[in-house]
Amino acid sequence: MTTELETDCAIVGGGPAGLMLALALLRQGIRVIVIEKHADFLRDFRGDTIHPSTQDLLADLGLLDEFLTRPHDDMPRVTFSWYGNELTLADFTHLPTRRKVMTFMPQWDFLDLIAEAAAQHPRFTLLRSTRVGELIRDGDRVAGVVGTGPDGEVAVRARLVVDASGRDSDIRAAAGLIPTGVASAMDVLWFRIAKTSGERYPFIQAGSGLIITIDRGDFFQIAHVIPAGAWHGSDADLAVMKDRIARISPGMADAVSALAASDVHLLRVRLERLRSWFVDGMLCIGDSAHAMSPAGGVGINIAIQDAVAAARILGPVLRDGIPTTADLRRVQRRRTWPTWITQFVQRRMQGPLIAERAAEAPLPFPLRMLRDHPRLTHVTGRFVGIGARSERLQLDQ
Ligand SMILES: Cc1cc2nc3c(=O)[nH]c(=O)nc-3n(C[C@H](O)[C@H](O)[C@H](O)COP(=O)(O)OP(=O)(O)OC[C@H]3O[C@@H](n4cnc5c(N)ncnc54)[C@H](O)[C@@H]3O)c2cc1C
Repeated sequence: MTTELETDCAIVGGGPAGLMLALALLRQGIRVIVIEKHADFLRDFRGDTIHPSTQDLLADLGLLDEFLTRPHDDMPRVTFSWYGNELTLADFTHLPTRRKVMTFMPQWDFLDLIAEAAAQHPRFTLLRSTRVGELIRDGDRVAGVVGTGPDGEVAVRARLVVDASGRDSDIRAAAGLIPTGVASAMDVLWFRIAKTSGERYPFIQAGSGLIITIDRGDFFQIAHVIPAGAWHGSDADLAVMKDRIARISPGMADAVSALAASDVHLLRVRLERLRSWFVDGMLCIGDSAHAMSPAGGVGINIAIQDAVAAARILGPVLRDGIPTTADLRRVQRRRTWPTWITQFVQRRMQGPLIAERAAEAPLPFPLRMLRDHPRLTHVTGRFVGIGARSERLQLDQ
C-alpha cells in the first residue's frame, strides 16, 4: 500500500542544499518534506568545509553559537606546502564576514545541526532511508515524487518539488533534464593512515598531485588528488600512488607503505551543469544543477547559496500559491553566473593541481603570483570564503 502525503515543498536529498532550503522555508511558515535515501548523514566524503559566508547565514538563522559547540577546527588561512616550501593560498582574515575563518567540521555534524533545527518546526517532515525514483505529474506539470522507504512506497504531492539530490540525481533525468560535462580532469583517492601522538602534516601538500590531510583525532584521513581515470585498484596503481606520495611528502611514506589497494576508496569528481535548472513544478539546485569539483573547496558554499536564493525568491510565492516557471527562472538567473565563474576557476585550477612536476621545476605560474604578491591571497580568500555572489536570508521572522 502507498502512503500518501501532501506538502508545500517536497525536497529530494538531505545534503547541504536540501536541508538549508528546508530550514529557510520553514522559517517563512512553509510546510516542507525532505526525502533522504540514507538513514543518517554518514556518507562518502563530500567535504568538511563551512565557509565564512555560510557562518554568516548560520548567524542569520540563530545557529552560530550552537554550531561552534560542535567539534570543529578554524583555519584563518589556507596554507600549502610545495615540496616542503610553505605558501599561503587564501587568506580569510580580511573578509567582511562575522567570522574570518574557514571552519572544518565533519559534514555529518553540520547536517545534524541543520536537521535538528528544522525538526523543531511542526511543519517539517524528514523521511529517512527513502529513495525517490519517480515523479508524479498533473499533465505536463511535476506535482510530486514517489519514493521507497522502510515501510514501502510513499507518494508526496507538493506545490513545488526541489531536486537537491546531488550530481547523481535520478529524478533530474526523469524530468528530462540532462547535464553536460564541463571537464573532469581529476579523481580523489580516499584512505586513512595511522597517527602517532604529536604527528602533524601540512593541510595541503603538492608537487606531483595533491595530498590533503584531515586530522580526525586518532587517525589522519587523506584525500589524494590524481588525474581522472588513473586509478583502477590494481597493485601497480597502488605502487604508483605510494611512490608519488613519497615524493610529495617523504614523511608520510612509512605510514602509506602499509596500505593495501582495498584500503583505498576512489571518489570520482565531475564538473557538470544543466542548461535549464527547472521544468514546470520542479527546480534543481546544488550539485544536481551544477556538479562541483573539490577544487578550491567551494561546492558546499555554492549549494547553500543556491538554497538561500531559492528560499528568498520562492518562499513568498509558496505562502499563497504555486510557483510558475517564471519564478523558477528567477532563481536560475540569480545563481547561474556565480556557478559558471566558479566552474571556470575550478577548471583552470585542475591542471596545476594534478600536474606531475619535479621538485626542482619552477612553481606553477598561479602559485608564483600568490607567492610574489601576497595581497592576492585576500582575493583568493574572498573567492573561497564568500564566493562569486553571496546570499543572505533577510528573514522577517
Ligand atoms: C570527493 C569530493 C570532495 C569534495 N570536497 C569538497 C570540499 O572540501 N568543500 C566543498 O565545499 N565542496 C566539496 N566538494 C563538492 C561538494 O561535495 C558538493 O558541491 C556539495 O556536496 C553539493 O551539495 P548538495 O546538497 O547539492 O548535494 P549532496 O551533498 O550530494 O547531497 C545530496 C543528497 O541527496 C541524497 N540523495 C541522492 N539521491 C537521492 C534519491 N534518489 N532519493 C533521496 N535522496 C537522495 C544523498 O544521499 C545526499 O544526502 C567535494 C566533492 C567531491 C566529489
